Amino acid sequence: MIDVIVVGSGASAINAAYPLVEAGLRVLMIDAGITDEKYAGKIPAQSFREIRSTDDGQHEYFLGHDFEGIPFGPVRVGAQLTPPRQYLTRRANDLLPVLNGNFEALRSFARGGFASGWGASSPPFTNSDMRGWPIKRTQLQAHYERVALRIGLCGENDPRLREFLGDDLPLLSAPRVDSNAQFILRRYRANRGAFNRRGFHMGAARLACATEKFRGRGPLTYHDMEFWADADKAIYRPVYTLQELKAHPNFEYRSNLLVESFKDSASQVTIIARNLVSQTTEHFTAAKLILTAGTICTTAIVLRSLGNASLPILSNPYIYYPCVVWPMFGRKVRDRRHSLTQLSIYYRPHDPTEPLVQAQVYSYRSLMLYKLLKESPFPHRESIRLLQLMQNYFIIVGLHHEDRPTTSKTITMDGDGIDVSYRLSQDEKSLQMRNEKRLMRNFASLGCLPIRRINPGPGASIHYGGSLPMSIEDKPYTTTPTGQLRGTHRVLVADGSILPHLPSKGLTLTLMANADRIGKNLADEMKAS
Ligand SMILES: Cc1cc2nc3c(=O)[nH]c(=O)nc-3n(C[C@H](O)[C@H](O)[C@H](O)COP(=O)(O)OP(=O)(O)OC[C@H]3O[C@@H](n4cnc5c(N)ncnc54)[C@H](O)[C@@H]3O)c2cc1C
Repeated sequence: MIDVIVVGSGASAINAAYPLVEAGLRVLMIDAGITDEKYAGKIPAQSFREIRSTDDGQHEYFLGHDFEGIPFGPVRVGAQLTPPRQYLTRRANDLLPVLNGNFEALRSFARGGFASGWGASSPPFTNSDMRGWPIKRTQLQAHYERVALRIGLCGENDPRLREFLGDDLPLLSAPRVDSNAQFILRRYRANRGAFNRRGFHMGAARLACATEKFRGRGPLTYHDMEFWADADKAIYRPVYTLQELKAHPNFEYRSNLLVESFKDSASQVTIIARNLVSQTTEHFTAAKLILTAGTICTTAIVLRSLGNASLPILSNPYIYYPCVVWPMFGRKVRDRRHSLTQLSIYYRPHDPTEPLVQAQVYSYRSLMLYKLLKESPFPHRESIRLLQLMQNYFIIVGLHHEDRPTTSKTITMDGDGIDVSYRLSQDEKSLQMRNEKRLMRNFASLGCLPIRRINPGPGASIHYGGSLPMSIEDKPYTTTPTGQLRGTHRVLVADGSILPHLPSKGLTLTLMANADRIGKNLADEMKAS
């Protein structure tokens, strides 16, 4: 018999499976696993600027065969999902429809999941981020370290940011920042004491990125093509680890299978899956099952299996500010850069009961100016000229707020689809606005002039969690601190669903470390018995 079935092949699934495979257990990974190489072979391994000036075929992947790169209507959720990445959400409406329009519940049925196109920003959670959880940072530290050595994590162990990042992790060298970020950082450092007294702290970004040669990947080429291609394999993708796992005889990967539900008993667990090619139903049985299909899809599998209920759902409220770094006007900027987070900002409000706000500074170029054009307050013709003049001095400040469960944030099944209802209270909105204003005032004194505030709406962060929270209380639809789903004998959950709340930081590094923790615990327990 198979020892463990792991559902999905995303960041959570891969890192839950890894310690089980390492321990010699027989692991079967079942995945919808949609792939698409339509554009990959067409994108030259060159820098954005070289491609723009030399490749006659660039329209194919920049705009897309069906012009899918040109969003009609406002740019809202998943602007980074360029034509070569759009397969990440393919068939989502058909495989798991969403019935309510007020929350962007993106679902991925792709091999490697969303992390095949993510921004790789990877700040760890601290004890203060995990306040109220049944586990502490100390229980995750060894797993953060294992994951860092598996995926390649780069940045600085800056002692001045320990309060926000916790104990040191094994890191590859920090990526070189672009010219605007270099200017901002220099200004910040010149007056660090004053910024820190206002609760504003800044440092190099932590990214899941091979800045140096690492496990057959990298080094980062600074081509500014990270949202389009993976030529240097520097940004971590779960498929790289999937490839490593496939080399083990005790690991099997099956794709084109959509897990619909499970049946669990004291002696075994069986999953019921639809074969997406033959449309037949297949059953797979194992001693244990780990659900890691991403929060929304995992929740649907659980609700179909255990019965429908209204569960909590969380997503970090995300706001962004396109800004111009006006003191840089007229200065020469370095062409070579990466497209991801350049700097990370931690804003700690003076009132200790108010949550940390986390912001990232991105350079803005390879996602194309025409997307920003729609957000410009000026007429189009003038906006084009302005944007072209200012394009070297644009940054995007992206801000995440924490999210906590309330009765106005729920997910439930409705027929074959899911229904998400998500509303922030007036108090939550006012608190966020207040802290944003304070945070953005610090950016203004760094020379960054916001053009406007853009709120892409609920769900836009694509950071989801909280539906089956880890808890020490024995309540239905919760999980134990080791990921065991209450009301089942043999089912564990190891993705965002089990995070009790979402701190303001990117969650995926923690998803990976927590999945590694759950996989490792299970491996130890199964080996012992
Ligand atoms: C553009 C973009 C940028 C992002 N940037 C960042 C960032 O900088 N930092 C950060 O922390 N996070 C970021 N995120 C979020 C991050 O990508 C996700 O948190 C993370 O990938 C979630 O991983 P997961 O494995 O839990 O789920 P998913 O990535 O959703 O993977 C789900 C997996 O399960 C499979 N699956 C789903 N349902 C079924 C089913 N019923 N049967 C079988 N298989 C199934 C899918 O095929 C897939 O393999 C970003 C996301 C996007 C889209």
